[in-house]
Amino acid sequence: MKVNGKGPDYIIQEGIPEEGAVAEVYKKAQEKWGVNLERDLMVMVYGKTMHKGFKDPIDPDLLVHEEVHVKQHTEYEGGPAAWWERYLQDTEFRINQEVEAYRRQYEWLKENEPDRNKRFKTLVRCAENLSGPMYGEAISIQNAMNAIRGMDYQILY
Ligand SMILES: [Zn+2]
Repeated sequence: MKVNGKGPDYIIQEGIPEEGAVAEVYKKAQEKWGVNLERDLMVMVYGKTMHKGFKDPIDPDLLVHEEVHVKQHTEYEGGPAAWWERYLQDTEFRINQEVEAYRRQYEWLKENEPDRNKRFKTLVRCAENLSGPMYGEAISIQNAMNAIRGMDYQILY
């Protein structure tokens, strides 16, 4: 997957390092939302590194989603540490950052997945995730569907 036509601008790693900044952020996310990288088959981005909880390659639509987070971390003042601090505290910020990533993921699907049913299934799965415990259950599923499809949306708290 290319970023601005220049080729991969990220690193993919399996698992989370035992200590350091990524480990600390992961621990906080675990405490706050009960997430688990391996069980939830998640990808967690820190700076330019995507930490995945599974052996298989990252699906191309999810890769596009995670690339948005790499870009967000790179452009955020204070870098990934400051981004994560705000992401963990600020619900509106968190949902808005995810909406940007899910929108890009869905746009990719519309361009590259010819099977309508598969596109819809992925949209529903993304909306379930976005409205679910992984992000603090801060948006309804209907609002999450609207948000991912590029429409207006409301956050619950
Ligand atoms: Zn995301």
